[in-house]
Amino acid sequence: MWLGALLFSASVILNISLLWNHKYFGFDRSYLEENLSWSRRAALEAEAVASVNCSGHGRAYLDGTSSEEDDHAEKWKLPVCECNTCYGGSDCSQFFHDCAADVDSGDPLFLEPFWMKHAASSAVLVTGWHRMSYSFPDKSSVSQELEKHIRRMHAVAKNAITHDKYIIFGGGSTQLLGAAVYALSMNLSSPASVVAATPFYPLYEVQTEFFQTVRFEFDGDASALKKYADNVIEFVTSPNNPDGNLRRPVSNGTPIYDHAYYWPHFTAIPAPSDQDLMIFTLSKLTGHAGSRFGWAFVKDKEVYDRMTRYISLAEMGISREAQLRALQLVKAILRSDNNGAEIFDFGMGKMRDRWRRLNDVVSLSTRFTLQKIPVRFCNFFQKLREPSPAYAWVKCEREEDGNCTSVLRAANIIGRAGSVFNAEDRYVRLSLLKSDDDFDLLVYRLRQLIVDEGVDPKII
Ligand code: PMP
Repeated sequence: MWLGALLFSASVILNISLLWNHKYFGFDRSYLEENLSWSRRAALEAEAVASVNCSGHGRAYLDGTSSEEDDHAEKWKLPVCECNTCYGGSDCSQFFHDCAADVDSGDPLFLEPFWMKHAASSAVLVTGWHRMSYSFPDKSSVSQELEKHIRRMHAVAKNAITHDKYIIFGGGSTQLLGAAVYALSMNLSSPASVVAATPFYPLYEVQTEFFQTVRFEFDGDASALKKYADNVIEFVTSPNNPDGNLRRPVSNGTPIYDHAYYWPHFTAIPAPSDQDLMIFTLSKLTGHAGSRFGWAFVKDKEVYDRMTRYISLAEMGISREAQLRALQLVKAILRSDNNGAEIFDFGMGKMRDRWRRLNDVVSLSTRFTLQKIPVRFCNFFQKLREPSPAYAWVKCEREEDGNCTSVLRAANIIGRAGSVFNAEDRYVRLSLLKSDDDFDLLVYRLRQLIVDEGVDPKII
């Protein structure tokens, strides 16, 4: 009899424990930990590739080209290292001394160390049968779970009011910028003039002209436009690319707020943005530019419907793998230290230190100046904070240095010419977003250039 009672109690305890595991982990966690089956191979492969030693100056990827020596049927073909600019050799240990500091593109590799630290929480394993359907069960092409987590992310960053707005996913914010122009132009009684205040991100012009219809055309600098502000769509980039300053519209047209950089990494957040059309991107929040994922918040239902239709006709919704990855990354951020603020502490710290280092060097020169960004109160950090912009907007001050890009190019620095941003070529944009290797080389080359100007190297 006592044996029966004992067995009964043991079975109750076992069931409660299984139920508990099921409730909190959705499965019997300890059992699976010891008995992983089909996922083991994928996990082993991912870790084997991650352990390829590229000397800290490169990375191997699962889909990278494999090395010939490993071409053995029973062995994995480990991919070769893809080296950072100016590094080479099979393990990226070789530094090319004459190589140029390439700070042209806005590749946000500065966040890579954050993700290496959060390897466990950010990794996601995709089954062979993951979401093969064209749609989610609710017939949409939008992950509700991702939508929920993105809204939470904004609540943590305190950078946007989202509860009263629809959300649309796009193939990067690039696609949403086009969708927004299309949707807003349909509201207007005559063809829209699409404008942006100089200096502006060049894609606005190139994309608008490329996809031009009878409904809209690109009309250049917004500041020149005030006289016929009817039927105007204005891109308001805040903070601005290239100069990092927070912006408001300069026309009284309909604004499209491009908030790619409105995250605490790059700017003080004076208040959460509450605009009718705001566009964000994973590229500059997590650094995953290659995943091509962006989102827009839209207040007006008609504009939302038109933007959704645009995305649906362009590609029937955004890749489910990109959505899954974005979800895992956002979850990893929300679960990280400091109630999800860790990425902002890291990002802001890194960008602020780069800005300080750059200023220390450039301030010794009379030949070059950097843009001014005011110290501002930040709603996120709850204090006044220094600038930490994504780009340096450098001005060549000497009369004869009318082409600043060439001046820097001669010193082995590759920047992006001012004219690309509709400004003078006396300006050049230098990206501060890339890897530590890229940034260190930039500072080294600038230092050399300034020493050549006659500045005592001991004080640099
Ligand atoms: N807006 C601005 C201001 C940008 O600088 C960029 C990329 N550099 C984009 C949009 C596009 O970003 P993505 O397509 O990667 O989301």
